[in-house]
Amino acid sequence: MRRSKFRTPFQIYKAHGLKVAAIATPWKVFQKYLTALPVNNRDGLPSQRELITDLFETNTEAWLIWFDGGRYDYFEELYDEYFTGELSKAWNGDIGYTGDWAVRHLEQDFSGYGLFSSVTLRSARDVDYDGRDHFDVAPRIETEDNSSMKEKLATLGYLEQSGELADTGEEAVNEAVLNHKSDISGGVIRYPKPHPPFDGLEHITSGASKTRETREALISGELTEPELHEAYRSTYRTGFELASQIIPKLDGTVIVTADHGECLDCGQLFHDRYHRPHDHLTHVPWFEVESVKD
Ligand SMILES: [Zn+2]
Ligand SMILES: [Zn+2]
Repeated sequence: MRRSKFRTPFQIYKAHGLKVAAIATPWKVFQKYLTALPVNNRDGLPSQRELITDLFETNTEAWLIWFDGGRYDYFEELYDEYFTGELSKAWNGDIGYTGDWAVRHLEQDFSGYGLFSSVTLRSARDVDYDGRDHFDVAPRIETEDNSSMKEKLATLGYLEQSGELADTGEEAVNEAVLNHKSDISGGVIRYPKPHPPFDGLEHITSGASKTRETREALISGELTEPELHEAYRSTYRTGFELASQIIPKLDGTVIVTADHGECLDCGQLFHDRYHRPHDHLTHVPWFEVESVKD
């Protein structure tokens, strides 16, 4: 019996180049290997992972506020309404889901610090990133209707959801920070904004079908591109408002950043593990807060 010798797409790519690898490999399989290829930081931006390490190593008290899905250029446009401070651009190292970022950026020893997030953090291999492995305090923030893993994933937009799940948990994050802050020297605070679902567009920007539904709405004219962008801005503002509420109550250095951006206007629409790792997704804000505006 003749046995075929299996070669991975990467081996085919090495031997015959990208084009042959793309033709020889089923698309679904190929996409997985495509994203395993090295991602270049062609602009030479500072590494977000290194900035995070430095932040917690060089300050006696430090807080990292993490906007989920906060694209750099929109941050630049909006932050001035809420804060004064110094904005720079960082490179997040690769694309992926929220948990992928946590695995890449929050694996250090965070003894003495807390991690606050209202939803579970799914990692690159579909295993949860568990803050309790790295942080002294990583409370599981339970929200009213939000108990099962499936529902937690739904709040991040990975699964279909029903009801108002997407809107739960944000205030609970700030509450948990206040309850724990006297026991720790700072930590990481994650807000699920401006990640989809977007304000006012929950019916098409929630769950796993959001890309298809949003695309269809754009094609049919039910939704315009400016409306999509405006909904993103509005969702971003919710993140800024949550941050404005907590920052005056924190001591030490406060940085606001994001794990990745959202595409919106380049045809890829949101963010995905298989998107091209370009600026919309890999350039993120790194903002040192000086003061909160009234
Ligand atoms: Zn994310
Ligand atoms: Zn894009």
